[in-house]
Formats: sequence, structure tokens, C-alpha cells
Amino acid sequence: MSARSADLTEKWYEYVYRDRAESVRRFVDAYPEERALSVSCERFGHDYRFVRPLLSDPDEALRAGKAALRRFLSNDTDRDLGDVYLRVTDLPAESEVALGDLRAEHLNRLHSTRGVVVDASEIRPKVVRAAFRCAKCEAVTRYATQPHREFQSHAKCPRCRSVGYLSFAPPASEYVDAQEVSLRDLDGSETATALLEHDLTEVATTGEEVRLVAIPRARRTDGSTVADAWLESVSMECLTPADR
Ligand SMILES: [Zn+2]
Repeated sequence: MSARSADLTEKWYEYVYRDRAESVRRFVDAYPEERALSVSCERFGHDYRFVRPLLSDPDEALRAGKAALRRFLSNDTDRDLGDVYLRVTDLPAESEVALGDLRAEHLNRLHSTRGVVVDASEIRPKVVRAAFRCAKCEAVTRYATQPHREFQSHAKCPRCRSVGYLSFAPPASEYVDAQEVSLRDLDGSETATALLEHDLTEVATTGEEVRLVAIPRARRTDGSTVADAWLESVSMECLTPADR
């Protein structure tokens, strides 16, 4: 763990978990049926040594948040909690970007944006904790969280150490609901695709306006250097007329 990661983990612990011991324990008791923990950015106040890295490198900051949760539980669980969703809301105003203004410079950073849901795909299962079966051991010997859209394979069996005998075991794996929605910019000019997982698939229906906190992502396809882009959702709230 880098010095910055250790520092971020400490801040998560101090600002989020330490003072909310009971509600965090309730959350962990309901896990894995409930996997999403809501965290308002206001808890971090004006600590820019936390908020800046959260906005510029949310992958590292959210990993630190999960590490701090494990520490809070004193490893009092056999799960690695890598499949928990930390639903960060109330980002500072500087993170705000209009959907139509999203560009390459915003990729892999944390942003807040608003839009109207104009289309929604059917809800499909997404694997969040993949089980791997070893053909030599004839058993499931490995579990790995799958936080991203691309499936991460594992080749080495942790029990017998052989390489190349592990294969994905669908029935022993865990899934959440997932859905793609199209969001239209408030001025109606642009649309963007957002990937929603778990509880976020139930937040809004077509025609509703939402505030989305997300990490814009890109994926290269078919040997092209020009990538497909989408928004990986961190949190989403439905806006009532009073919020607008
Ligand atoms: Zn094995």
C-alpha cells in the first residue's frame, strides 16, 4: 500500500466509519443482501487532502474506503468486502460537468452530472464475486471480486498452485442486477450511457431527472484507437422539482 493509500484509508476510517459505528455494523449485518453504503462527501468537510484524490483518482480512493471498512470490522468477516458499493454523494461544485461537455480529460475521474432518463435496457445479472473451479482439485478454490465491466480471469489455483486449470464457476458465483440507461443532457443536445448496478437499478424510471455521480470510462474495441465511452455509476439520486 502506498503512503497516499494509507493516508486515504486513515481518513475514511476517521470521517466515515469511526463515528457511525452502529449504522455501519447494521449495514454489514444486512450484507450481502444489501451491498450499498451511502456516504455524503460533506463528511469530509473541506479536507482537500482527501477530496482532491477522491476526484482525481476515485479508483484508489474507493479501494481505500473498502480497506478502511475491513479495518473497522477488524477482519471480523471471511469476506474481503471488495464487492461493497460506496455510494458517494454531494460532491463539491468543482466536480460538476454537463453531460454534453464530457471529454477525454474527464475519463477515470469522479464527476457529478445531471440528466433525464430517456431509455433503459432490461435488467440483467452482473457477476460481482466470481467463483473459479480447479479441474485438478475438483473444487471451487478461488473467489474474486469483479468491480469492473471487463471480467477478470484468474489462472492459478491457490490450493494446488497449478496454472491453467481454473475455470469460471457460474453457479457458485454471486450476481447483482445491472442495467444500462441513456441519459439526455438537460438542454436535450447529447445523450450518454450509464451503467447502473444493484440498488441503483431501482432509483429512476424513464422521464425522470437524476443527479449521477460517476466515473467516465472508455473501452477500445476492434483494434480501433477510438473508444466507446460510458459512465460507471457511483451514486444516483432522483431529483424532485424542489431539488432543481
Ligand atoms: Zn487446484
